[in-house]
Amino acid sequence: MENCVVYKFGGASVKNASAIQNVGRIISNCPDGKLIVVVSAMGKTTNALEEVVATAFKNPTEAVASLQTIKASHLEIATELDLNIDLSSLFEEGEKNILAIRDEELEYDFIYDQIVSLGELASTKIVNAYLAQSLSLEVDWLDARRVVKTDNTYREGRINWNETSWLFQKTVQPLFKSYNVLVTQGFIGADDNNHTVTLGREGSDYSAAIFSYCLDASYMAIWKDVPGILTADPRLFENVSLIDKLSYLEAIEMTYYGAKVIHPKTIKPLQNKNIPLYVKSFENPSSAGTVIAGELDLRYPPVVVVEKDQRLLYIRTKDLSFVAEHHLSRLFNLFAKHRIKVNLMRNTAISFTVCVTDRPDRIANLLAEIDGDFTIEDEKNLELITIRHYQQPVVDALKKGKIVLFEERIPKTVQLVLKSMPLLKRKDVEYN
Ligand code: ASP
Ligand code: MG
Repeated sequence: MENCVVYKFGGASVKNASAIQNVGRIISNCPDGKLIVVVSAMGKTTNALEEVVATAFKNPTEAVASLQTIKASHLEIATELDLNIDLSSLFEEGEKNILAIRDEELEYDFIYDQIVSLGELASTKIVNAYLAQSLSLEVDWLDARRVVKTDNTYREGRINWNETSWLFQKTVQPLFKSYNVLVTQGFIGADDNNHTVTLGREGSDYSAAIFSYCLDASYMAIWKDVPGILTADPRLFENVSLIDKLSYLEAIEMTYYGAKVIHPKTIKPLQNKNIPLYVKSFENPSSAGTVIAGELDLRYPPVVVVEKDQRLLYIRTKDLSFVAEHHLSRLFNLFAKHRIKVNLMRNTAISFTVCVTDRPDRIANLLAEIDGDFTIEDEKNLELITIRHYQQPVVDALKKGKIVLFEERIPKTVQLVLKSMPLLKRKDVEYN
């Protein structure tokens, strides 16, 4: 669609009344054209709803009470903004889902999606009401589940692109005849039975990319609490600097390695249609931020990505048979089956070492399946550090005071699996 822009606002940008007013200003300043506003759940709502789900399986009454508290905090923000809004039916749906657990053998992941999605549904109701009632914009609320169609892999829905594209033509294009702005939810879609399916934590960026792709947007912007894409996480490192421009390829590599600025699935749909992505600060909207576009590889400074909660699994054959292709293919099938992402790996004659993000339940299930044929040792609480465009002094500095359990070097990328040095053995500690 000509002149259509997609803005995505994350949880931090809508966390309270003044944040929502700021979002309103950014939207009002959007140059002419049609605008889709994709919004996440407010602040830490998704974490709170995850707790509700966990409680719902043990103590439904307590879960219903927590849900009421979440509803009340949303209403408080709406009142502060002077909005006339009704969230009752939304939260009643949530209660119904909690109470249904008692009667039926419902799956955890299914219930999770029905309840956790309330965060986005509620935040968008509020943002929409603010834009309509306080700013008098020609705006409508769009239920993303009407257009974003997925399979039924709850908590990690996979997009049915054909159907989604078709529904966009049928639903969104006509809406833009009457409205200039559509407010919709990130993170959610629906399966063929119209059950809500979420797209994975932090999936709102991906949703915005789906919207951009299906509408052939002129560009997409993600509004964040950082000035753009930085060379490292400013919460972990000092002296980070802003990268003004990244190619799609570089952005996809960085996010794959765990850079949390954008969800890794976001880039591909944009690259496929050559849609530029701006990552900008909602605190400082007029500053340029970072643009991701084009294929041209530029010269980049070293970029450091840190992934915590890593676990190394040392898997060895019991009968000393070689870890050859047949073993590897069996192991990889099991990693895929249990949805464990392999972050780094190496095989020797009879062993296979792999670094994975620690998901205890999934890993326990995988290990149980291979227990007969392999011995397993593992090490937890590790850090995986990836350095793109590395320079040796940066690599050395990152290793300081740590034990390197695994190091891999390919052109452009060094990866280190690090363990904190037990404090008493550190050379830099003076004892007297
Ligand atoms: N609200 C969801 C989450 O916190 C999706 C998102 O923020 O992108 O994971
Ligand atoms: Mg978020």
